[in-house]
This record gives sequence, C-alpha cells and structure tokens, in this order.
Amino acid sequence: MKAIQVQAFGSPEVLQLREIPTPQPAAGQVLVRVRAAGVNPYDAYMRSGSYAIKPELPYTPGSDAAGIVETVGAGVKGVAKGARVYTATTLSGAYAEYALAVEAQVHPLPERISFTQGAGVWVPYGTAFHALHQRAHGRRGETLLVHGASGGVGIAAVQLARAAGLRVFGTAGSERGAELVRREGASEVFRHDQPDYLEKIMTATAGRGVDVILEMLANVNLGHDLKLLAQNGRVVVIGSRGDVTITPRDLMARRASISAFTLWATTEAEKQEIFAGLGAAMEAGIVRPVVGRELPLAQAAEAHRAILEPGAYGKIVLIP
Ligand code: NAP
Repeated sequence: MKAIQVQAFGSPEVLQLREIPTPQPAAGQVLVRVRAAGVNPYDAYMRSGSYAIKPELPYTPGSDAAGIVETVGAGVKGVAKGARVYTATTLSGAYAEYALAVEAQVHPLPERISFTQGAGVWVPYGTAFHALHQRAHGRRGETLLVHGASGGVGIAAVQLARAAGLRVFGTAGSERGAELVRREGASEVFRHDQPDYLEKIMTATAGRGVDVILEMLANVNLGHDLKLLAQNGRVVVIGSRGDVTITPRDLMARRASISAFTLWATTEAEKQEIFAGLGAAMEAGIVRPVVGRELPLAQAAEAHRAILEPGAYGKIVLIP
C-alpha cells in the first residue's frame, strides 16, 4: 500500500510517500481502507520531534481515519467487513491507504457524515467533548468563550456547546473564519487579531464575564482569559505552544479555576462516555465536521505547513 512514512524527525519534507506492506489484522484487530485522514496540529509537533510523545522510527502519522472495514482479525465481534467507520487513533497510522486498529479504536460512522468529515471526528470532537462536558462541566444557560473557534477543535466545541444550550462566543483570526464560527452556532464572534477584542468580549457580557473559556493558545491568552471570567469561571487549556505569565489574584478574586488535559490521557470510562456522546450527536446532526481543505496523500508536507498557519477554516484532510 501507499503510505506516508517519517524516517527521521524534522521539517514537513520528511513526510515521504512510500510503498510499504499492507498490514494484516491479528486477533482483535481491524483493517480499515482509509478514504480520508485528518491532519491535526499534534501530527506536526510529533513529526518535528518536539512533542512529548516520540514514536519509534520509521512511522506513519495520523490518528483520525475514516473509511470502510476491509478485514477483521479473529475474535472481532463488534464490527464487520464493509462497515463505515472512523478511528480514534490507530496502530499503524492514518496517513495511508490502509490503517490497522484494535477493535476498540474503530467506531461507526453514520451515513450522514461523509468520509472526509469522518476524518475530522475523533481528535477535534473528542477533545471538545472532553473539555466542555468532562472538564468544564458546561451547563445550559452559561456563557462559553471558544478562544480559537475557527479550527478543528473550535468548530466542534461551538457545535456541541450550542446544542447543549450554552450561549457561545467564538474568536477567529480572519473574516472568513469568523463567518464560519457564526454559521456553526456562535452568537457573538470576535477577531483575535484585533487589538480591542478582549474589551468587546467583556462588553458583550455586560461586564459580568464568561463562565467557561476553552483555550486553544494558552501561551498567548491565559493571562487575559482570567480577567474575562465571571465568578466561579473555568478555563480549560486545550492548546499551548510556550510559556505564559498569569496573575493568581485574578483567579482568587473570582473563585476561578484552570484545568488542562491531553486527549491521550483520558480514562477508559471517559472515552466510553465520549464515544456514546459523539455517536448520539452524529445521529442527531449536531456533529457536522467542516472540511476546509482536501489534499492528496502525497501532499502531506503541504498539509503540515498549512495546519500551523493562521486563517484556520475547519479541518484539513488527506485523501489516499
Ligand atoms: P487548528 O485547526 O489549526 O486551529 C487553530 C485555532 O487556533 C484556530 O481557530 C486559530 O484561529 C486559533 N488561533 C490562532 N491564533 C490565536 C490566538 N491568538 N488566540 C486564540 N486562538 C488563536 O487546530 P485545532 O485542531 O483546532 O487545535 C487547536 C489547538 O488545540 C492546537 O494547539 C492543538 O495542538 C491543540 N489540541 C490539543 C488537544 C489536547 O488533547 N489537549 C487535542 C487537540 C488539539 P485563526 O487561524 O482563525 O487565527
């Protein structure tokens, strides 16, 4: 099969399209014919060698694949050949024509979600669900700020929170991104590339502050976030690319809290709740991944350059 392989950590050019043996499912494993693979920022951090998790070389990147079950190994009961599925991480990597996964990593993809959309389910929606429901415990009627709403996780958070009855504010760094965030359910959208947007957010709450912030770029925003919080406000750090200074008194004065997580470290029980929640939300039409850009698998390097650039518009996906 054709697959992207990384033989040494480095710049996007280390993502090379190669012919490698198609993996075969052992007991309890599933082989998926990949129709689309999602590109996530952490794929780029990992490829560069700067991420906490360093896979053994060579490796094929990607955890989010959508496609059709090709074959199943002995003992697999929950999924059969021909089923439409998405993966929540894989054993062999998603940037390939086929991906091997254990049965528990393979989940049904309803007909209403296309394969390209399916490649934007696990990391974006799993992260948004965990942040909103399992960390922030966002409640109906609360005001949520999705700080960085135009990308994969942000759009997922806007859709899930709106459906859960929160009042949703979002930010974007371009007009196109801002329009998308509004279209997907935010009642107010602010431009984080403009100098006065934090004051505008505070004004939109009539000076009360927001109850929950889902933060995509904590190294830039965390100190400001604390000043935007209402009493008992919660910030959930989802993304960060460096250090930041905060004023703890901003937390104390508001009885506020900061929490943070990585999706990889969610417990089995949390994962079961996420899969159940996302399954229901997919069936109900609440999960509507936005695919902003499709590229052929051979252009994985371009996808990795683009994922770290400003002007996000939903997901970037690779087509094998
Ligand atoms: P993405 O699709 O590349 O989107 C990045 C988002 O960050 C865009 O909305 C972008 O807006 C926004 N952004 C850029 N500058 C910003 C600023 N100054 N203030 C606020 N937002 C800003 O990435 P993603 O997949 O949504 O992931 C978002 C972040 O979460 C990444 O850092 C990623 O590594 C992290 N993440 C963490 C986990 C976890 O397990 N904790 C899981 C998934 C993702 P514009 O481009 O419109 O400016």
